[in-house]
Amino acid sequence: MGTTAQIGVTGLAVMGRNLARNFARNGYTVAVHNRTVARTRALIEEFGGEGDFVAAETAEEFVAALERPRRLVVMVKAGEPTDAVIAEFAPLLEPGDMIVDGGNAHFADTRRRERELRERGVHFVGTGVSGGEEGALHGPSIMPGGSAESYESLGPMLERISAKADDGAPCVTHVGPDGAGHFVKMVHNGIEYADMQLIGEAYQLLRDVAGYTPARIADVFRRWNTGRLDSYLIEITAEVLSHVDAATGKPFVDVVLDRAEQKGTGRWTVQIALDLGVPVSGIAEAVFARSLSGHADLRSAARGLPGPTPRTLPEAEAAAFADRVEQALYASKIVSYTQGFHQIAAASAEYDWGVDAGAVARIWRGGCIIRAAFLDRITAAYEADPGLVSLLSDRDFADEIGAAQDDWRAVLAAATTQGVPTPGFAAALAYYDGLRTDRSPAALIQGQRDYFGAHTYRRTDGEGTFHTLWGGDR
Ligand code: NAP
Repeated sequence: MGTTAQIGVTGLAVMGRNLARNFARNGYTVAVHNRTVARTRALIEEFGGEGDFVAAETAEEFVAALERPRRLVVMVKAGEPTDAVIAEFAPLLEPGDMIVDGGNAHFADTRRRERELRERGVHFVGTGVSGGEEGALHGPSIMPGGSAESYESLGPMLERISAKADDGAPCVTHVGPDGAGHFVKMVHNGIEYADMQLIGEAYQLLRDVAGYTPARIADVFRRWNTGRLDSYLIEITAEVLSHVDAATGKPFVDVVLDRAEQKGTGRWTVQIALDLGVPVSGIAEAVFARSLSGHADLRSAARGLPGPTPRTLPEAEAAAFADRVEQALYASKIVSYTQGFHQIAAASAEYDWGVDAGAVARIWRGGCIIRAAFLDRITAAYEADPGLVSLLSDRDFADEIGAAQDDWRAVLAAATTQGVPTPGFAAALAYYDGLRTDRSPAALIQGQRDYFGAHTYRRTDGEGTFHTLWGGDR
């Protein structure tokens, strides 16, 4: 076997197979390999005609098939399998070669792997890939970390296979060194959780307060999708809501068990945000809402708890209510992106990554699950001011949220009095009001801390730290 392939993909399950096909369809010669050889053979059998593949049955054959410096994409199950694959391939590689990990790795693992491989002169490029199966085949949004040198070699290929935004720009950029790419992919997924939760709350309000059927709610989402909420998630929400279950003839959404599952990137986003001290309350509420939905025992034990049963609005008021829900959804969405971008900025400062927030918004405009017209607006906000402290300090977003807030508050008031849970909308509004407030209760908390633990406090009228000698025996 000659050394002919410009790129290799190992791990040929859903993602790897489609990514390999994408490279091949774009004119690259692609070496393909999988632990279980049957997958490699199946790929060649089914799709061998799509392009130039080199099938490798062993690690040695795979590495030998790659032109140097070698570019080796790993698309295996995240966690231990990734370490196992690295352990298998690293001894076969030479300085200058590149391992691209396209799995959903934890960024701390990526930092460790990058450090270890750097000692051997091998570039480890932790890379976020978003867009699922379709994205992998037709163009994902790609978030590579690793060295700038590796991006010089990989960048042109990744740009070719990536999604393109409406203006034609490829949805890939060198996010930053070591774990920066996987970190940004993780926050992407966290924002995805928040987006889905907010959409879910809007659906529940339209169902329980407006009294709409799934088909009618689908029409509302379709209408919203022609405006500022235009996005992949809103589009597929309309599709899911209008889908009819073939077995029962009922709306599909009514026959699905209401327990949401999760794989872990949302949870990581929240765990790491706690370590960084960044309030990502919208993402946290989305993760907790999924957990709550899964606690069947708690939920059935709570069945008899007292509370209001939502009253359906008269038809004449329902349409206006739906418009208010759109305002609440949009305002809450601005807040979740504000929080997500804050988390990226905080990690970038902590790890010295130099992440360009505007570039991140740009590469999320196509290919990925959170792609949305809205990302153009975020891109523009960071282009206007690359040092923007918060999306909420962008004048246009501040104006929009200001215009939405009366409806946002009215929707939350209705949800609260009618007993419809809206943790995402509520957390977003609490964050917004928490930022706006002139004097927060943190002053009282500092007093309490000083009282019971002599933790000291600072004063509004001078420098230094103070402790009060509180009275009484304690
Ligand atoms: P997956 O189910 O996560 O993983 C299956 C692949 O991993 C198979 O090729 C399997 O090989 C290989 N594998 C597992 N353990 C291994 C080991 N110890 N040594 C070598 N190979 C091992 O596949 P996927 O859904 O295509 O996802 C691949 C990666 O992309 C994951 O990290 C995932 O988180 C990430 N990702 C997935 C999506 C998505 O929409 N699915 C989107 C973005 C990112 P065998 O065939 O031999 O079992």
